[in-house]
Amino acid sequence: MTTKPIIKQEQIRQASGLLDKARNIVITCHMTPDGDAIGSSLGLARVLNAAGFRASVVTPDTPPHALDFLPGICDVYIASRFADGGRAILSAADLVFCLDYNGLKRIDRLAPALEASKAPRIMIDHHLDPENMADVMISHPEASSTSFLVYHFLKQLGLDNLMDADAATCIYTGMLTDTGHFSYNSNDPEIYLVIADLLRKGLDKDDVFTKAWNTNSVNRLRICGYAQCHNMTLLPHHRMALITLSRDELDEFGYVKGDTEGLVNRPLSIPGIVYSIYLREDEKNYVKVSMRSTGDFPVNKICEERFGGGGHLNAAGGEFDGSLTEAIDAVLAALPDYDRYLPDEEAVESCPQKTVE
Ligand code: 5GP
Ligand code: MN
Repeated sequence: MTTKPIIKQEQIRQASGLLDKARNIVITCHMTPDGDAIGSSLGLARVLNAAGFRASVVTPDTPPHALDFLPGICDVYIASRFADGGRAILSAADLVFCLDYNGLKRIDRLAPALEASKAPRIMIDHHLDPENMADVMISHPEASSTSFLVYHFLKQLGLDNLMDADAATCIYTGMLTDTGHFSYNSNDPEIYLVIADLLRKGLDKDDVFTKAWNTNSVNRLRICGYAQCHNMTLLPHHRMALITLSRDELDEFGYVKGDTEGLVNRPLSIPGIVYSIYLREDEKNYVKVSMRSTGDFPVNKICEERFGGGGHLNAAGGEFDGSLTEAIDAVLAALPDYDRYLPDEEAVESCPQKTVE
């Protein structure tokens, strides 16, 4: 069995035309990049470099240390570390890829540099409602990860013979992290045909699992344990769990970016909980909002309507300008408006009685 092409042939033809005219390629991904953003970018860069291009990956800010194991991560150009915010590298590009984001807002301070560049753009993304921001818009919201799309892109271009074990590792990591180790959004049989092919290219799937999923710092274990023990509130009537971490608490535990990755998913393991919200006070008066849900409950709607953000039905995020206490009040004020999306079953019965308030 082999994988089926999923990208429109016309788009592959257009992308191929742009590649024919390009030499310096810059691959960009969204701010606070995750395994899919970095994995898809590094995988694509590696294959394009093997094909004779000069491809670099540019991120708006620092990738989480949990991804340090990815081949090629040391060569990533982190725009926030340079005074020109990535202008020089982008102005030298003759083709730009936009991976794993659907709008310029998602690349934050890199946006002016991208807008100043005259290079044509190819978007490869799986977020809903993409902005019209690229010459070739390969947008597949039904896909479980951008990395899955990058695999197909390379295969349909006929470049998959250049995909080595390192490229396969990067692409697989994105597929793994965006599906919670294939625990959600992952019933498409095509995913496993791609994995079979990546294994044939030398991917060590078990090793990636250990490095990407089952490696923790002491601080990470402690802060996640603390947050679940002391700062998790269950609101059974809304079938929701709220976790918060204040700036002071983050400092107390020596928090570094990525330490609470996955924390927002934990309450979904409680029977009866339909969605989970995590508020992290990144700065005094700035709170990062993360939401996860199960079934049809649309957390992207809450993020869009109340927290200037967006995302997927079951995984979304946004921002709140104000204190953590104000953010909590905003969440509590919003909840009743979304009760209508809760599934029909009786909430209280299946919800645990013990409520931490
Ligand atoms: P996370 O909770 O892991 O930060 O983000 C989950 C998903 O929500 C991301 O993959 C992204 O699609 C979306 N997301 C997170 N933060 C934002 C945001 O501030 N704005 C928008 N539009 N989407 C976000
Ligand atoms: Mn993604």
